[in-house]
Amino acid sequence: MTYHTNLGGQFSFREGTRLENSLGRTGVISTPHGPISTPAFIPVGTKASVKGVLPESIKALGGQALLANAYHLYLQPGSAIVDAAGGLGEFMNWPGPTFTDSGGFQVLSLGVGFKKVIAMDTETFRSDEVIAENKERLAHVDDDGVTFKSHLDGSMHRFTPEISMQVQHQLGADIIFAFDECTTLHNTRGYQERSLERTRLWAKRCLIEHGKLTSERSDHPYQALFGVLQGAQYEDLRRQAARDLAQLDESGISFDGFGLGGALDKENLGTIVGWMCDELPRNKPRHLLGIGEPDDLFTGVENGADTFDCVAPSRQARTSAVFTRDGRINLTNAKYQRQFSPIDEECDCYTCSHYTAAYLAHLFRAKEMVAGTLATIHNERFIVRLVEQMRTTIESGDFLEFKREFLGRFYVGSAKRQAT
Ligand SMILES: [Zn+2]
Repeated sequence: MTYHTNLGGQFSFREGTRLENSLGRTGVISTPHGPISTPAFIPVGTKASVKGVLPESIKALGGQALLANAYHLYLQPGSAIVDAAGGLGEFMNWPGPTFTDSGGFQVLSLGVGFKKVIAMDTETFRSDEVIAENKERLAHVDDDGVTFKSHLDGSMHRFTPEISMQVQHQLGADIIFAFDECTTLHNTRGYQERSLERTRLWAKRCLIEHGKLTSERSDHPYQALFGVLQGAQYEDLRRQAARDLAQLDESGISFDGFGLGGALDKENLGTIVGWMCDELPRNKPRHLLGIGEPDDLFTGVENGADTFDCVAPSRQARTSAVFTRDGRINLTNAKYQRQFSPIDEECDCYTCSHYTAAYLAHLFRAKEMVAGTLATIHNERFIVRLVEQMRTTIESGDFLEFKREFLGRFYVGSAKRQAT
């Protein structure tokens, strides 16, 4: 099914093969900078750079698109500079599709001091004022927006739905996200309800501002706007968020797709993603924000998510933690000093085609910069390829078999190593 955007832009989503008895599917997202075959993992270039790796390498390892963070680029170098450069892709020499997130998550997570939202201990805290220990509260939310302190220089800034849209239009990514309040599993049910309504009102304001900016900047490529669904671990709130945002229409402007966001505990990830995707229209793409662990990717795909992004593969690579088919390993472990074979014999990445684990182990010990580069190429390829394989096996009807085989080996391998 293809649909056209309200403003006649080149953005569409076509559903391909459906995974039997589930919400999973393949598809193609078309953007002004090219197509994305889904499901797909989107590498993250937080500050318009995938740390340590050139865009050419990301392309070569099969990365179809890149995601950058509006919050970071707003603070540095400033969205006006990226706009003057011709937009994010042009600025960083990435010719393919780009995404930017709304800044909501960073503003709140860096500001309030929370760490990763997934896998939070829901039983520990039940307060709306909880902040990370020994951390000053750096962000304040009100009904109009968020005031926050820059993590770079301590200067004060304010994001509203309108400002987030203005920043993201200047950054010029193909897919942008509505400004939302990202709650955590620590917030109370009452707070989640109020926050969800606030996010809905912000979503309306985003659509209005997006429509205005799209008209004003009609000489720029069309940018697709995704609404972000919150609602934490509550089924009624998640379903309501999906229905509300799917129905929003501001003078003919509606969301082009949806971001599945916020607090998602690992155990219930599939159930929660399933609630949302069950309500969402099938003719629009869904992006699961900030998820990149192999088992979570399978869960996300099976429950209807089309695209994923996560900093974990590159962040872990820089600390010498790399993926193999038999689980994650750490290259600084003594046993890899004499492994004169690739990190993973089955990997088809540039690193594994040209270098041994022993060489990478040496580079990490010697603190050579290229260690992080080679490990990042491997980890990004590993995850990009894993999701590619999910796509091809949905198409060939072998998805469940592939999942069983992959997860069995990956997690059994990890457990064995931990035991020794
Ligand atoms: Zn490799």
